[in-house]
Amino acid sequence: MPQAIYPGSFDPITNGHMDIIRRASTICDEVIVAISNNPSKKALFTIEERLAFVKELTKDIPNVTVESFNTLLVEYVASRNVKVIIRGLRALTDFEMEFQMALINKKLKKDIETVFMVTCTDYSYLSSSIIKEIASFGGDISALVSPIVNEALMKKIGSGGE
Ligand code: ADP
Repeated sequence: MPQAIYPGSFDPITNGHMDIIRRASTICDEVIVAISNNPSKKALFTIEERLAFVKELTKDIPNVTVESFNTLLVEYVASRNVKVIIRGLRALTDFEMEFQMALINKKLKKDIETVFMVTCTDYSYLSSSIIKEIASFGGDISALVSPIVNEALMKKIGSGGE
């Protein structure tokens, strides 16, 4: 595949996201991980923090770059001259929302395709929200996120942060 954009909140990036990024990088010429900077969607980590995590974790994958965007996704994708959006699918529960988004995006820009990559079984239950929830109760998330994210979560919410 040519260039593709993998958009999301990545608040924070998990091993499930990393699995999709790694696998996408093997089938695409270039993968742009695009972190949405949407002020109306309250994030735990700032856009700078989320960018720094993804940059650090993908620094050894040569065809992966990381950016943020704050416009409509299809406008951003078109502005980058990219034709493919990658989304991850975990379970049936993701499907309805993702299906709706893909159809709306197609309506808005008909030459942009959404491609779905199915989660690997190890991470099918994993989401950024569940990570934040477990961390807030002091649970062990070290197998689910990278050490830098684990440490940042502990600082922020795990041990008397925010
Ligand atoms: P958004 O708010 O756009 O859903 P997320 O950061 O939650 O942003 O997710 C970004 C993309 O990564 C979505 O397509 C989501 O389905 C996918 N994703 C998240 N977690 C996983 C996982 N564990 N396995 C596969 N895909 C995942």
